[in-house]
Amino acid sequence: MPDNKIIFLDRDGTINKEDGYITKVGQLELYRGTVPALRMLNEAGYGIVIVSNQAGVAKGLLTESELMKINNALLEMLGSENIMVERLYYCPHHPDAVIPEYKKDCECRKPRTGMVQSAEKALNVSARGAYMIGDKLTDMELAHNFGGKGILLQTGYGKEEARKINSTAHNPVYIAGDILDAVEWLKANNKL
Ligand SMILES: [Mg+2]
Repeated sequence: MPDNKIIFLDRDGTINKEDGYITKVGQLELYRGTVPALRMLNEAGYGIVIVSNQAGVAKGLLTESELMKINNALLEMLGSENIMVERLYYCPHHPDAVIPEYKKDCECRKPRTGMVQSAEKALNVSARGAYMIGDKLTDMELAHNFGGKGILLQTGYGKEEARKINSTAHNPVYIAGDILDAVEWLKANNKL
């Protein structure tokens, strides 16, 4: 990818509405700002990479193949708006999993950087300095861990999460109302 133009996005509470564990395609609903925000990123030449913790698989709430159906449905919803997503990565593991094969202290669960490293390899880019947009402080911590910058949204769990920010946390560079606000902020500050 030229010029290292890559941006990392969380899935639930960021792109699609937070709805507890999403176990069915019917629960997928995009935020109003999602399509215009992702279009701006595409038009600016940014490769969009979605990185999503999906511990519902480890907890037995849905199977990995059901999760893949939901992910594909999301990509189709975006594709029907001509939004191009380079990669979508998920972590199905959890240290306290009830499904033994997913019980793992893995490297891919955010805030660890396994999914970001996979994207770096697959797309032949460096994530250093890239932005990570999400609704949780673990997303901000992930940004810190890969040498990037976090933008916290107030959608999803973001309002509660913003209250937990303190001087020792891995603080976001900006707290945005929603994903469109985040991308508009990047553009207004000449970061796109
Ligand atoms: Mg989220």
